[in-house]
Amino acid sequence: MTKENKVSADFILHNLDSAVVYPNPYRGKGTKVGWETKELKHASIASKNGKIVWIGNSADLNENVKIESDTYFYNGEGLLAVPGFVDSHTHLLYAGNRADEFEMRVQGKTYLEILAAGGGILNTTNAVRNLSEEELFAETSHRLDMAMDSGVTTIEIKTGYGLDLKNELKMLRVIDMLKEEYPLRIVTTFMGAHAVPADRVNDSDSFVDEICQEWIPAVAETKSAVFNDVFTEKKAFSVEQSRKILNAGLKYGLKPKIHADEVNVLGGVDLAVEVGAVSADHLLMTGDEGIKKLVGSGVIPTVLPGTSTYLMESHHAPARKMIEAGLPVAIASDHNPGSCQFLGANMIQSMAMLQLRMSASESLIAGTLHAAHAVDMGNEIGAIEVGRNMDIALFELDSFKQIGYHIGQNYLYDLIIGGESIYKD
Ligand SMILES: [Zn+2]
Repeated sequence: MTKENKVSADFILHNLDSAVVYPNPYRGKGTKVGWETKELKHASIASKNGKIVWIGNSADLNENVKIESDTYFYNGEGLLAVPGFVDSHTHLLYAGNRADEFEMRVQGKTYLEILAAGGGILNTTNAVRNLSEEELFAETSHRLDMAMDSGVTTIEIKTGYGLDLKNELKMLRVIDMLKEEYPLRIVTTFMGAHAVPADRVNDSDSFVDEICQEWIPAVAETKSAVFNDVFTEKKAFSVEQSRKILNAGLKYGLKPKIHADEVNVLGGVDLAVEVGAVSADHLLMTGDEGIKKLVGSGVIPTVLPGTSTYLMESHHAPARKMIEAGLPVAIASDHNPGSCQFLGANMIQSMAMLQLRMSASESLIAGTLHAAHAVDMGNEIGAIEVGRNMDIALFELDSFKQIGYHIGQNYLYDLIIGGESIYKD
């Protein structure tokens, strides 16, 4: 490369021990899924205005990158760089806790017994309704800090504990406050169809009509939410009701997501393909037929190994079969107060390996690039590649294989988001 076509940079992550790149990344519907990773030794990464402009061996930096007087050098000695984790499925915004319910479940109490003792989503709904926006912000910010501490640079957060329009809009405002206050990327999902409120169970069709005709237009007007999610399950929303809700969202520009096949196979996967959902999540019970339907559909199958572990399921999502079928499997935390308290991205990496038998490379790609696709940001984030945002997690580790291996331990050193250091500068 001659001097004239040097790229200019304002931030250089210099002298890294290694940086993990994806040689053949999935690039969206109709493209091939690559599961290979490559650890570039003695790497440097340069960015300009928050976007990666060059990656290579540190020895080649000077002949490829134009160093300005104000170019910032970040010393990467002894550090491993991986793409910042993307947690594409969370219910991070809630109030209170359900530790009693956790203990009851461990002791073998049934779902109905727990419900009778005041457990379940509606328990959290009451807690959320009783708190102010500032109180909800405070409770959630603590968890957001913990997610970032584990290497998360983008997180999706759902509403769905308001379950009336007033409180769903309150949740959206709190997520907006978090967006304002935090440096990480927050993606908002409206999930008014998370559960049917107790006083509407005999009248769920009119509840669905209310969501479609009143809530969705009001939510769209706030411009806060990108996605519209629905819990398609027995005792929640039927396929027909889910279709109504997702199509109503589409009319207002809200992209569909779906909680499918968690307990029963009702046809949530078919619906995901039909409406062009960005992702179908859980998929614990999805069989060969469902996997076949997902192939080539562009729907990102998102599996949540923390949840099946937390619920002590004997069965986990068939991630291996999905990978063998050529699907761009994503993993996420599903952090929520009832069915999954796993939160850290490093912990989800371990769960993907232990419970889903995914390799370290597969887990990393599923928790970064494919999870980025699951929030429709697959071309902007999720990989260390020229043109993408400079979102990087720096670990004091020799290899990315140690992230999942050191289960429950955290070796994060710093986060870089949009070419800015979050903790060290
Ligand atoms: Zn969920």
